[in-house]
Amino acid sequence: MSKADKIETTGPGKTANSEAEWRKKLTPEQFHVTREHGTERAFSHPYNKEKREGMYRCVCCGEPLFSSDTKFDSGTGWPSFYAPAGEGSVSEKEDRSFLMHRTEVRCAKCEAHLGHVFPDGPEPTGARYCINGAALELDTDEPGGKGSL
Ligand SMILES: [Zn+2]
Repeated sequence: MSKADKIETTGPGKTANSEAEWRKKLTPEQFHVTREHGTERAFSHPYNKEKREGMYRCVCCGEPLFSSDTKFDSGTGWPSFYAPAGEGSVSEKEDRSFLMHRTEVRCAKCEAHLGHVFPDGPEPTGARYCINGAALELDTDEPGGKGSL
């Protein structure tokens, strides 16, 4: 598996965007969440209740991150998934800020902050990826795989 095999995106294809470039490309909320490790208000984003099928892509670089197939209603107020779209699509990093011990989830390609992962999700993974809707862009043209064979 080489990186060249990944789905072609419309993004810049590089990870070295400057802060100024991100500011131009993103809304203030998207910038705050993805580049400044922000957290949107619970229940504030329409993706929390989104039911359409598709692929949730990184709002920064377009990388496919989470399929609607793995989305579930966690009741927390943020879009929640039990698994990333593919192995290596997100990176996980220990986060000890705010005196809490959490695992931060980032886009593996552009390092956008997405949210956190907790070990209290449903089967089959037992993981709960608690993701800011502002970090995602739903692509309904590309079903997550289920039923598209
Ligand atoms: Zn990204």
